[in-house]
Amino acid sequence: MKLSQRLDQLAPYLFVEINKKIAEKRARGEEVISFGIGDPDIPTPDNVIEKLCSAAREPANHRYPETEGLPALRQAMAAWYHRRFGVTLDPNSEVLPLIGSKEGIGHISFCLIDTGDVALVPDPAYPVYSVSTKLAGGEPYYLPLKEENAFLPALDDIPAEVLARSKVLWLNYPNNPTGATADVDFFKRAVEFAAKHNLAICHDNPYSEVAYDGYKPVSFLQADGARGVGVEFHSLSKSYNMTGWRIGMAVGNAGMIDALKRFKSNLDSGIPQAIQYAAIEALSGPQDAIAAHNTIYQRRRDLVTDVLNDIGCQVYTPKASLYVWAKVPPGHTSLEFSTDLLEQVGVLVIPGTGYGPSGEGFVRLSLTLHDAALVKALSKLSSWQDSHNRFKSKH
Ligand SMILES: *Cc1c(COP(=O)(O)O)cnc(C)c1O
Repeated sequence: MKLSQRLDQLAPYLFVEINKKIAEKRARGEEVISFGIGDPDIPTPDNVIEKLCSAAREPANHRYPETEGLPALRQAMAAWYHRRFGVTLDPNSEVLPLIGSKEGIGHISFCLIDTGDVALVPDPAYPVYSVSTKLAGGEPYYLPLKEENAFLPALDDIPAEVLARSKVLWLNYPNNPTGATADVDFFKRAVEFAAKHNLAICHDNPYSEVAYDGYKPVSFLQADGARGVGVEFHSLSKSYNMTGWRIGMAVGNAGMIDALKRFKSNLDSGIPQAIQYAAIEALSGPQDAIAAHNTIYQRRRDLVTDVLNDIGCQVYTPKASLYVWAKVPPGHTSLEFSTDLLEQVGVLVIPGTGYGPSGEGFVRLSLTLHDAALVKALSKLSSWQDSHNRFKSKH
């Protein structure tokens, strides 16, 4: 059997070596605690689960759903956007439910990218933006997110010949993995840039509800002209601890929404209806779970930040997202530091280079470790000794 060349473009899994080390340690009976997984440990709120169960008992929900989702779900999504961001959306033409936002992020490249086209992709980033670009036959052009630019892309640095071939600009704030945030002014500049260079903007916004210290992340659609040039991907995964149920949405530009709907209707048959009803409950029911979760994450963020600072990592205290992005101590690469922590104290942090070359010098820690594991992990982390620098100081 000969597999497609398309599959060859999927980069070999970056964490093969790390996973091998974890397996070896565990085989020796040693414990490894992972800060790697960006998947909320707190369960889905009870009211949502109750709705899911009662909807599952309804025979009408056992049948094929429609690709475009229940009208009531699209209305609930539009109403939520209006309450949360003051953005008015037409539930029929500007809202499309997705089987998790990853699904839409993957498929939209096929609606926008032809062979040889360029997509402007942040580096470091969630890998699906570049992977879907490549699978659609396009080429990612990476926009480094630098510390000195507050981890925002320097749009004016993109060469004219690259822009001439570019069709899509990917953005993601609050950002995974850096935890950086962007304001409406940044999105306004991005919209003007996209209009000038004929780009479609895809903004990925799954962390708008995961925020700290009273900060309220914005929607890309709050920027004037945004829906003329782009869509925003959103998700119930991180907002309502619903990663396992697979439901998200694309909202914004009607032409892009229609294209994605047409593409998807040929591949999938929508979201199981019981899950759509659970999502309506999550979006329209009581919202107090969000603040309760954020209180938990914020406390974890502060504990993690303190210990990292103690062992010589400089931390960007995030205002939002589920991640702490920390600078590794001087004299280490991301991979060396991460390997060293794993070998010496049995704690896994993800090397920044796992999200792109500009992640060098950083590691990402996720705040989704439940409290007992977190306490243990932090005590292990604080026992870490910088053997590299000790070694150097002997010479
Ligand atoms: C978690 C995550 C997603 C995926 O969310 P789903 O809706 O569960 O598919 C998308 N983008 C980023 C940056 C994420 O971290």
